[in-house]
Amino acid sequence: MMRVVKTIKIDVDKCNGCRSCEVICSAFHAADKYGTTNPARARIRVIREPLLDIFVPVFAGDFAPAECAGRNQYIIDGKVHDECAFCRASCPSRDVFKEPDSGLPLKCDMCEDDPPLDEPLCVKWCENDALIYEQREEEAEEAAELEEMEIGLESLVGKHGLQPVIDAIARMSTK
Ligand code: SF4
Ligand code: SF4
Repeated sequence: MMRVVKTIKIDVDKCNGCRSCEVICSAFHAADKYGTTNPARARIRVIREPLLDIFVPVFAGDFAPAECAGRNQYIIDGKVHDECAFCRASCPSRDVFKEPDSGLPLKCDMCEDDPPLDEPLCVKWCENDALIYEQREEEAEEAAELEEMEIGLESLVGKHGLQPVIDAIARMSTK
């Protein structure tokens, strides 16, 4: 079976740190779609160092149930950035890429919608062409969807505990 692989290339040199991408992402994912904006809910965040002209958009990636044993630290143009600053994971060691109210992990979903959008909204809203959208088809791995569902369940269990999640699923199955 073929699947569509979506990619957003990030041209860091073109980003000016305007944060339009964060605004539209949070609006698209608001409970009342487009009704509110709050960059804390965005699945993209821009690391900003205006005095050094450094702006790096980072997309929210997978949920990580535990902190890494090792850490990364980037030095760009002599500026030493915080540990984990460019990491895409929603993990227990920091507050980024977490839904502010529930604490549930946030992950870029490429603006999935019905009907599908022709391109993700952060790409559309980036006036500087720093975000470039591409898609291609490739052979699908059957395990991928299952793995995604397990990660979602794992995060719910991590937040609420196993029994409340089992109870919720049991309630849903009787509806
Ligand atoms: S592709 Fe969509 S979901 Fe992902 S960061 Fe951009 S606006 Fe947000
Ligand atoms: S909209 Fe484009 S230029 Fe503005 S912060 Fe996002 S990636 Fe950078």
